[in-house]
Amino acid sequence: MNVPVITVDGPSGSGKGTLCALLAKQLGWNLLDSGALYRLLAFAAGNHGIDLTNEESLKQLAAHLDVQFIDKRIILEGEEVTDAIRNEQIGAGASMVASLPAVREALLQRQRAFQEMPGLVADGRDMGTVVFADAPLKIFLTASAEERARRRYLQLKAKGDDVNLASLLDEIRARDERDTQRAVAPLKPAADAIVLDSTELSIEQVLERILSEVADRD
Ligand code: C5P
Repeated sequence: MNVPVITVDGPSGSGKGTLCALLAKQLGWNLLDSGALYRLLAFAAGNHGIDLTNEESLKQLAAHLDVQFIDKRIILEGEEVTDAIRNEQIGAGASMVASLPAVREALLQRQRAFQEMPGLVADGRDMGTVVFADAPLKIFLTASAEERARRRYLQLKAKGDDVNLASLLDEIRARDERDTQRAVAPLKPAADAIVLDSTELSIEQVLERILSEVADRD
């Protein structure tokens, strides 16, 4: 059976995570947060003392990663890591392991397994270009680096983290550079993606726009 997929790709802080959660809820579809898989791998590598450049060991770890997604909770090797993987250090580690071709290959099947009825919203960097290249609706969501840093700052601040806007902006730029310049599956819009700039749009406005695209295709 052909399970419909909506891919949403874009840089960190573009609002993809919130948008995809709302979209999946609204449609009653499954949700794949592919960034979480790269974050989990970086976290697990830390647990096992594996260097983030050791491609062979990371590939093995990726192939056998013991992870469960239970509602909004993420359990890695029996330990809840839902919040622990959401910091800038793990984000930077994720972007390092994500630049390794063998790691990306090892995570492909695990990502495709999320394509189950009644449909899937897939959030990431290469959902529309590689993992679900046949998806009928592809979105590329972006926003200026300054706006993305500002959103991240407010998010982390609300969690009580001690954060600095200028260093967040530096980290976002460094991550963008790594994600767009890497040789394998670089961050870029699929040729058939709808590109939306959310710098001056609320998440609700972006959601409305995508739902109208879904309705047009029904
Ligand atoms: O989206 P999130 O910030 O959680 O992703 C963390 C990192 O994982 C990204 O900066 C990117 O390097 C990598 N990633 C990727 N491909 C995906 C999802 C995430 O390379 N599909």
